[in-house]
Amino acid sequence: EITMPRPDHPRVLCVANQKGGVGKTTTTVNLAVALALHGNRVLVVDLDPQGNASTGLNVPHHAGVPDVYDCLIDNVPLSEVAQPVEGIPNLWCVPATIDLAGAEIELVSVVARESRLARAIAAHPEQFDYVFIDCPPSLGLLTVNALCAAQEVLIPIQCEYYALEGLNQLINNINLVRQHLNPTLDVSTILLTMYDRRTRLADAVEQDVRNHFGSKVLNAVIPRNVRVSEAPSYGQSVMTYDPGSRGATSYFEAALEIAMRGVNTGGNA
Ligand code: ADP
Ligand code: MG
Repeated sequence: EITMPRPDHPRVLCVANQKGGVGKTTTTVNLAVALALHGNRVLVVDLDPQGNASTGLNVPHHAGVPDVYDCLIDNVPLSEVAQPVEGIPNLWCVPATIDLAGAEIELVSVVARESRLARAIAAHPEQFDYVFIDCPPSLGLLTVNALCAAQEVLIPIQCEYYALEGLNQLINNINLVRQHLNPTLDVSTILLTMYDRRTRLADAVEQDVRNHFGSKVLNAVIPRNVRVSEAPSYGQSVMTYDPGSRGATSYFEAALEIAMRGVNTGGNA
Protein backbone atom coordinates (compact mmCIF):
# COMPACT_ATOMS: atom_id res chain seq x y z
CA GLU A 1 0.00 0.00 0.00
CA ILE A 2 1.52 3.28 -1.16
CA THR A 3 0.71 6.30 0.95
CA MET A 4 0.40 9.77 -0.47
CA PRO A 5 1.12 12.66 1.83
CA ARG A 6 -1.92 14.84 2.42
CA PRO A 7 -1.28 18.58 2.02
CA ASP A 8 -1.31 20.69 5.17
CA HIS A 9 -3.54 23.25 3.44
CA PRO A 10 -6.22 22.83 0.76
CA ARG A 11 -4.72 22.97 -2.71
CA VAL A 12 -6.83 24.42 -5.51
CA LEU A 13 -5.52 23.56 -8.98
CA CYS A 14 -6.84 24.98 -12.21
CA VAL A 15 -6.31 22.59 -15.14
CA ALA A 16 -6.03 24.92 -18.11
CA ASN A 17 -4.95 25.09 -21.74
CA GLN A 18 -7.10 26.98 -24.22
CA LYS A 19 -6.45 24.31 -26.79
CA GLY A 20 -9.06 21.54 -26.91
CA GLY A 21 -8.18 17.87 -26.87
CA VAL A 22 -4.87 18.17 -25.00
CA GLY A 23 -6.00 16.05 -22.03
CA LYS A 24 -7.35 18.60 -19.52
CA THR A 25 -10.41 16.58 -18.60
CA THR A 26 -8.64 13.22 -18.68
CA THR A 27 -5.94 14.64 -16.41
CA THR A 28 -8.46 16.19 -14.02
CA VAL A 29 -10.48 13.00 -13.68
CA ASN A 30 -7.57 10.60 -13.29
CA LEU A 31 -5.50 12.72 -10.90
CA ALA A 32 -8.60 13.34 -8.77
CA VAL A 33 -9.42 9.63 -8.60
CA ALA A 34 -5.79 8.66 -7.91
CA LEU A 35 -5.53 11.13 -5.01
CA ALA A 36 -8.95 10.18 -3.59
CA LEU A 37 -8.15 6.45 -3.74
CA HIS A 38 -5.12 7.21 -1.59
CA GLY A 39 -6.87 8.97 1.24
CA ASN A 40 -7.24 12.54 0.03
CA ARG A 41 -10.53 14.42 0.10
CA VAL A 42 -10.96 15.70 -3.46
CA LEU A 43 -13.46 17.94 -5.25
CA VAL A 44 -13.68 18.22 -9.04
CA VAL A 45 -15.35 21.35 -10.39
CA ASP A 46 -16.49 20.83 -13.96
CA LEU A 47 -16.22 24.26 -15.56
CA ASP A 48 -16.67 23.15 -19.18
CA PRO A 49 -20.23 23.40 -20.56
CA GLN A 50 -19.56 20.16 -22.42
CA GLY A 51 -19.58 18.41 -19.04
CA ASN A 52 -16.93 15.84 -19.95
CA ALA A 53 -15.52 15.64 -16.43
CA SER A 54 -19.04 15.00 -15.08
CA THR A 55 -19.49 12.26 -17.68
CA GLY A 56 -16.09 10.75 -16.90
CA LEU A 57 -16.94 10.57 -13.20
CA ASN A 58 -20.41 9.20 -13.99
CA VAL A 59 -22.14 12.08 -12.22
CA PRO A 60 -25.64 12.99 -13.50
CA HIS A 61 -25.53 16.28 -15.36
CA HIS A 62 -28.59 16.36 -17.60
CA ALA A 63 -30.61 19.56 -17.93
CA GLY A 64 -32.22 20.49 -14.63
CA VAL A 65 -29.55 18.99 -12.36
CA PRO A 66 -28.18 21.68 -10.00
CA ASP A 67 -24.74 22.59 -11.35
CA VAL A 68 -21.85 25.01 -11.26
CA TYR A 69 -23.91 27.55 -13.20
CA ASP A 70 -26.20 27.91 -10.18
CA CYS A 71 -23.16 28.64 -7.98
CA LEU A 72 -21.69 31.19 -10.38
CA ILE A 73 -24.85 33.06 -11.35
CA ASP A 74 -27.34 32.45 -8.51
CA ASN A 75 -25.04 32.18 -5.47
CA VAL A 76 -26.12 28.61 -4.68
CA PRO A 77 -23.55 27.08 -2.27
CA LEU A 78 -21.20 24.48 -3.74
CA SER A 79 -22.30 22.05 -1.05
CA GLU A 80 -25.81 22.02 -2.53
CA VAL A 81 -24.65 21.02 -6.01
CA ALA A 82 -21.62 18.80 -5.29
CA GLN A 83 -22.38 15.12 -5.82
CA PRO A 84 -20.48 12.17 -4.36
CA VAL A 85 -18.75 10.11 -7.03
CA GLU A 86 -20.08 6.57 -6.89
CA GLY A 87 -17.53 3.94 -5.97
CA ILE A 88 -14.80 6.41 -5.01
CA PRO A 89 -14.94 7.44 -1.34
CA ASN A 90 -13.68 10.99 -0.64
CA LEU A 91 -14.38 12.23 -4.17
CA TRP A 92 -17.06 14.77 -5.07
CA CYS A 93 -17.95 16.53 -8.30
CA VAL A 94 -19.70 19.80 -9.02
CA PRO A 95 -21.19 18.96 -12.40
CA ALA A 96 -21.67 21.15 -15.46
CA THR A 97 -24.94 21.00 -17.36
CA ILE A 98 -25.82 22.67 -20.64
CA ASP A 99 -26.89 25.72 -18.57
CA LEU A 100 -23.23 26.60 -18.20
CA ALA A 101 -23.03 27.44 -21.90
CA GLY A 102 -24.88 30.69 -21.13
CA ALA A 103 -22.68 31.65 -18.19
CA GLU A 104 -19.85 33.08 -20.27
CA ILE A 105 -22.20 35.83 -21.48
CA GLU A 106 -24.35 36.17 -18.35
CA LEU A 107 -21.29 36.64 -16.15
CA VAL A 108 -20.40 39.83 -18.02
CA SER A 109 -23.06 41.81 -16.16
CA VAL A 110 -22.66 40.12 -12.77
CA VAL A 111 -20.98 41.90 -9.83
CA ALA A 112 -17.43 40.67 -9.15
CA ARG A 113 -17.75 38.55 -12.24
CA GLU A 114 -14.15 37.25 -12.13
CA SER A 115 -14.29 35.98 -8.56
CA ARG A 116 -17.60 34.15 -8.40
CA LEU A 117 -16.00 30.70 -8.26
CA ALA A 118 -13.34 31.84 -5.78
CA ARG A 119 -16.10 33.04 -3.46
CA ALA A 120 -18.05 29.83 -3.81
CA ILE A 121 -15.02 27.67 -2.99
CA ALA A 122 -13.96 29.88 -0.09
CA ALA A 123 -17.47 29.68 1.38
CA HIS A 124 -17.54 25.88 1.34
CA PRO A 125 -17.77 24.71 4.96
CA GLU A 126 -15.78 21.49 4.66
CA GLN A 127 -12.13 21.27 3.81
CA PHE A 128 -10.86 19.42 0.81
CA ASP A 129 -7.26 18.39 0.34
CA TYR A 130 -7.54 19.09 -3.39
CA VAL A 131 -9.90 20.99 -5.62
CA PHE A 132 -9.38 20.43 -9.36
CA ILE A 133 -11.07 22.85 -11.75
CA ASP A 134 -11.49 21.47 -15.27
CA CYS A 135 -11.46 24.44 -17.65
CA PRO A 136 -13.14 24.84 -21.03
CA PRO A 137 -10.94 25.21 -24.14
CA SER A 138 -11.09 29.01 -24.16
CA LEU A 139 -9.76 31.97 -22.22
CA GLY A 140 -13.09 33.61 -21.42
CA LEU A 141 -14.67 34.48 -18.08
CA LEU A 142 -15.09 30.86 -17.02
CA THR A 143 -11.35 30.24 -17.26
CA VAL A 144 -10.68 33.61 -15.60
CA ASN A 145 -12.92 32.48 -12.72
CA ALA A 146 -10.87 29.30 -12.43
CA LEU A 147 -7.60 31.27 -12.45
CA CYS A 148 -8.93 33.57 -9.71
CA ALA A 149 -10.09 30.66 -7.56
CA ALA A 150 -6.87 28.63 -7.82
CA GLN A 151 -3.47 28.85 -6.15
CA GLU A 152 -1.88 26.68 -8.81
CA VAL A 153 -2.21 26.18 -12.54
CA LEU A 154 -1.64 22.75 -14.03
CA ILE A 155 -1.07 22.88 -17.78
CA PRO A 156 -1.39 19.63 -19.73
CA ILE A 157 0.65 19.75 -22.93
CA GLN A 158 0.16 17.33 -25.76
CA CYS A 159 3.46 16.28 -27.29
CA GLU A 160 2.92 17.59 -30.81
CA TYR A 161 4.18 20.29 -33.13
CA TYR A 162 3.31 23.87 -32.06
CA ALA A 163 2.62 22.66 -28.52
CA LEU A 164 4.50 25.60 -26.99
CA GLU A 165 3.33 28.31 -29.37
CA GLY A 166 -0.27 28.10 -28.28
CA LEU A 167 0.73 28.62 -24.67
CA ASN A 168 1.77 32.29 -25.01
CA GLN A 169 -1.80 33.49 -24.81
CA LEU A 170 -2.52 31.36 -21.75
CA ILE A 171 0.63 32.56 -19.98
CA ASN A 172 -0.26 36.19 -20.82
CA ASN A 173 -3.71 35.72 -19.30
CA ILE A 174 -2.23 34.10 -16.22
CA ASN A 175 0.11 37.10 -15.84
CA LEU A 176 -2.82 39.51 -16.15
CA VAL A 177 -4.82 37.63 -13.53
CA ARG A 178 -1.77 37.63 -11.27
CA GLN A 179 -1.29 41.40 -11.67
CA HIS A 180 -4.87 42.39 -11.09
CA LEU A 181 -6.80 39.68 -9.30
CA ASN A 182 -4.81 36.82 -7.78
CA PRO A 183 -1.22 37.86 -6.97
CA THR A 184 -0.02 34.47 -5.68
CA LEU A 185 -1.23 32.38 -8.62
CA ASP A 186 1.55 29.97 -9.54
CA VAL A 187 2.03 27.87 -12.66
CA SER A 188 3.17 24.97 -10.53
CA THR A 189 2.80 21.97 -12.80
CA ILE A 190 3.26 21.01 -16.44
CA LEU A 191 2.20 17.52 -17.50
CA LEU A 192 3.10 15.97 -20.85
CA THR A 193 0.15 14.00 -22.20
CA MET A 194 -0.59 11.59 -25.02
CA TYR A 195 3.09 10.91 -25.47
CA ASP A 196 3.92 8.57 -28.31
CA ARG A 197 7.43 7.35 -27.76
CA ARG A 198 7.64 5.83 -31.22
CA THR A 199 7.90 9.29 -32.75
CA ARG A 200 11.00 11.46 -32.70
CA LEU A 201 8.74 14.50 -32.64
CA ALA A 202 7.37 13.63 -29.20
CA ASP A 203 10.92 13.42 -27.92
CA ALA A 204 11.81 16.82 -29.40
CA VAL A 205 8.69 18.43 -27.94
CA GLU A 206 9.47 16.94 -24.54
CA GLN A 207 12.98 18.45 -24.63
CA ASP A 208 11.56 21.84 -25.67
CA VAL A 209 9.01 21.84 -22.87
CA ARG A 210 11.57 20.75 -20.27
CA ASN A 211 14.04 23.42 -21.42
CA HIS A 212 11.36 26.06 -21.26
CA PHE A 213 9.60 25.14 -17.99
CA GLY A 214 12.37 23.33 -16.10
CA SER A 215 11.36 21.70 -12.85
CA LYS A 216 7.69 22.60 -13.26
CA VAL A 217 7.45 19.69 -15.69
CA LEU A 218 6.55 16.44 -13.94
CA ASN A 219 8.95 13.55 -14.49
CA ALA A 220 5.92 11.37 -15.09
CA VAL A 221 4.76 11.50 -18.70
CA ILE A 222 1.34 10.20 -19.77
CA PRO A 223 1.59 7.86 -22.79
CA ARG A 224 -1.02 7.60 -25.48
CA ASN A 225 -2.92 4.54 -24.25
CA VAL A 226 -6.18 3.20 -25.60
CA ARG A 227 -7.39 2.17 -22.14
CA VAL A 228 -7.37 5.87 -21.14
CA SER A 229 -9.69 6.77 -24.00
CA GLU A 230 -11.98 3.77 -23.44
CA ALA A 231 -12.58 4.40 -19.74
CA PRO A 232 -15.03 7.35 -20.01
CA SER A 233 -17.52 5.36 -22.07
CA TYR A 234 -17.80 3.04 -19.04
CA GLY A 235 -18.29 6.01 -16.73
CA GLN A 236 -14.93 5.30 -15.16
CA SER A 237 -11.45 6.71 -14.83
CA VAL A 238 -8.66 4.54 -16.19
CA MET A 239 -7.53 4.21 -12.56
CA THR A 240 -10.50 1.92 -11.87
CA TYR A 241 -11.23 0.69 -15.41
CA ASP A 242 -7.78 -0.81 -15.89
CA PRO A 243 -5.48 -0.09 -12.93
CA GLY A 244 -2.61 -2.06 -14.45
CA SER A 245 -2.58 -0.18 -17.76
CA ARG A 246 0.28 2.16 -18.60
CA GLY A 247 -2.20 5.03 -18.63
CA ALA A 248 -3.26 4.29 -15.05
CA THR A 249 0.24 3.73 -13.67
CA SER A 250 1.46 6.95 -15.31
CA TYR A 251 -1.40 9.01 -13.87
CA PHE A 252 -0.70 7.45 -10.49
CA GLU A 253 2.98 8.49 -10.73
CA ALA A 254 1.92 12.01 -11.73
CA ALA A 255 -0.48 12.20 -8.76
CA LEU A 256 2.23 11.01 -6.39
CA GLU A 257 4.67 13.64 -7.70
CA ILE A 258 2.06 16.38 -7.29
CA ALA A 259 1.39 15.20 -3.73
CA MET A 260 5.11 15.10 -2.88
CA ARG A 261 5.68 18.57 -4.33
CA GLY A 262 2.71 19.92 -2.41
CA VAL A 263 4.76 19.82 0.75
CA ASN A 264 6.30 23.10 -0.40
CA THR A 265 4.07 25.18 -2.69
CA GLY A 266 3.12 28.80 -2.96
CA GLY A 267 5.10 31.74 -4.28
CA ASN A 268 5.70 32.53 -7.90
CA ALA A 269 8.53 31.25 -10.00
P1 ADP B 1 -9.47 18.30 -23.25
O1 ADP B 1 -10.22 18.23 -21.96
O2 ADP B 1 -8.20 19.10 -23.15
O3 ADP B 1 -10.31 18.76 -24.39
P2 ADP B 1 -9.58 15.41 -23.16
O4 ADP B 1 -9.06 15.04 -21.82
O5 ADP B 1 -11.05 15.41 -23.33
O6 ADP B 1 -8.98 16.81 -23.62
O7 ADP B 1 -8.89 14.43 -24.21
C1 ADP B 1 -9.20 14.52 -25.59
C2 ADP B 1 -9.40 13.11 -26.16
O8 ADP B 1 -8.19 12.38 -26.07
C3 ADP B 1 -10.43 12.31 -25.40
O9 ADP B 1 -11.15 11.53 -26.32
C4 ADP B 1 -9.61 11.42 -24.48
O10 ADP B 1 -10.26 10.20 -24.18
C5 ADP B 1 -8.36 11.20 -25.32
N1 ADP B 1 -7.16 11.00 -24.48
C6 ADP B 1 -6.73 11.81 -23.49
N2 ADP B 1 -5.59 11.35 -22.95
C7 ADP B 1 -5.29 10.21 -23.62
C8 ADP B 1 -4.23 9.26 -23.52
N3 ADP B 1 -3.24 9.38 -22.64
N4 ADP B 1 -4.25 8.20 -24.38
C9 ADP B 1 -5.24 8.07 -25.29
N5 ADP B 1 -6.26 8.92 -25.42
C10 ADP B 1 -6.30 9.98 -24.60
MG1 MG C 1 -12.18 18.90 -21.51
